Amino acid sequence: MTAKTPTVSRRRALIGAAGLAVLGAPAIARAQATAGRLVIVGGGFAGATAARASRERFPNVAVTLIEPESSFVTCPYGNLVLAGRDADLSRVTHRYDKLLARGVTKISQNAASIDPVAKTVRTAGGQTVPYDKLIVAPGIDIKWNAIKGYDEAASRVMPHAWKPSLQPVTALSERLKAMPDGGVFILSAPANPFRCPPGPYERASMVAEYLKANKPRSKVLILDAKDGFSKQPLFLAAWKQLYGDMVEWVGSDKEGRVVAVDPAAMTVETEFGKKHKGDVINIVPPQQAARIARESGLTGTGDWAAIDTRTFESKAVRDVFVIGDANAAPPMPKSGFVANSTAIRAATVAGAQMTGAAIPKAIYFNTCYSHVGKDYGISVAGVYRPNEDGSKIDEAPNSGGISAREATPDIRAGEATYADGWYQSITNYMFG
Ligand SMILES: Cc1cc2nc3c(=O)[nH]c(=O)nc-3n(C[C@H](O)[C@H](O)[C@H](O)COP(=O)(O)OP(=O)(O)OC[C@H]3O[C@@H](n4cnc5c(N)ncnc54)[C@H](O)[C@@H]3O)c2cc1C
Repeated sequence: MTAKTPTVSRRRALIGAAGLAVLGAPAIARAQATAGRLVIVGGGFAGATAARASRERFPNVAVTLIEPESSFVTCPYGNLVLAGRDADLSRVTHRYDKLLARGVTKISQNAASIDPVAKTVRTAGGQTVPYDKLIVAPGIDIKWNAIKGYDEAASRVMPHAWKPSLQPVTALSERLKAMPDGGVFILSAPANPFRCPPGPYERASMVAEYLKANKPRSKVLILDAKDGFSKQPLFLAAWKQLYGDMVEWVGSDKEGRVVAVDPAAMTVETEFGKKHKGDVINIVPPQQAARIARESGLTGTGDWAAIDTRTFESKAVRDVFVIGDANAAPPMPKSGFVANSTAIRAATVAGAQMTGAAIPKAIYFNTCYSHVGKDYGISVAGVYRPNEDGSKIDEAPNSGGISAREATPDIRAGEATYADGWYQSITNYMFG
């Protein structure tokens, strides 16, 4: 028997497990299936990490990645395009070729539905893909109209640029370049939880860096649905130091929460009816788990998928793991770093369940770097553990921390360099 010709009993097992439709699955996926079949939906921070980790740790598990895009554009480092540090998206665009060369089979389609009884995924192109274990890692969707008037049409006038496959950051940088000197850039930030808690404030910083150099009479107004935000004292101090009075933050306690937009008038309206007019308006809208997670029963009636915090297995559907931004795993943030850390956990548990390997104790990590100005970086870090029954996650005592309030320019420059190193190493793990 060669690897490419399964025995009759193997064939029967495959057909028995998932019905005749399995014969429509790619030849490579069938040929690899020795210990089991891991199918991953979504090839972003979580999914691409899980694919690589599984190939490395369980070479006899067949890995199939369902992801429609031919390359992945990261959100991290996209904000640097706004500062004008990067002219285009080349730094943040990564191809899947090297991941595929590690033995991952890619189906370049959207996953349309999951059948948890037959244990198959149906693709938008009509292919049926059987799994023994399924990892769902589709990221987020925008909650259209959660802010009155903010629908897809409005987002073409007031970009979100918060999900690159839907709208790249260049949609915003083009508007910023066209903004007159003396203009107002409005950024509306959402309530928690949302993708990348420090992201809106790094974005405001990168916009200010561009404006200071190119349109110094302009203003950045952040209208926030929260009364506080990640690394707030550090951001506020750095804005003052680097940009003077250019950046203004208005929290929800000062009527910062945007409740409605008017794209024709280029205005946003806050809670008690105050209207602000902007020359460029960036709405970072409320978010939810991406559609495939919601429509497969993984999120129940909520916005995010409930998981066992020890394994990242879905609480709703057996043999399915949900990783990355699509799940609810507080107090961990929705970050690429956490997506990577928890993807390794899910791939390890899924692989161990299929091969009989031992499952190590769980521990998760996060570090979120933010660029605030040239040679000026800050960070927040955390180490996390699940509790005994998998119902919650706790920050490990005396772990993690935040950049010092007072620091020398060398230290701030050092953090900006560490951020670069983090980005290179995480993208190299996924795509290198
Ligand atoms: C401006 C900004 C800056 C950020 N900066 C940082 C940072 O510095 N550090 C950090 O750690 N995090 C950062 N983040 C957060 C980080 O981008 C996310 O937390 C991370 O991308 C989440 O990974 P994910 O795999 O869940 O989702 P994604 O990375 O979005 O990947 C989801 C993938 O699933 C695919 N997909 C969706 N639906 C389907 C379907 N039905 N079938 C098949 N495939 C599907 C998509 O095409 C996509 O490739 C930032 C975010 C933003 C917006």
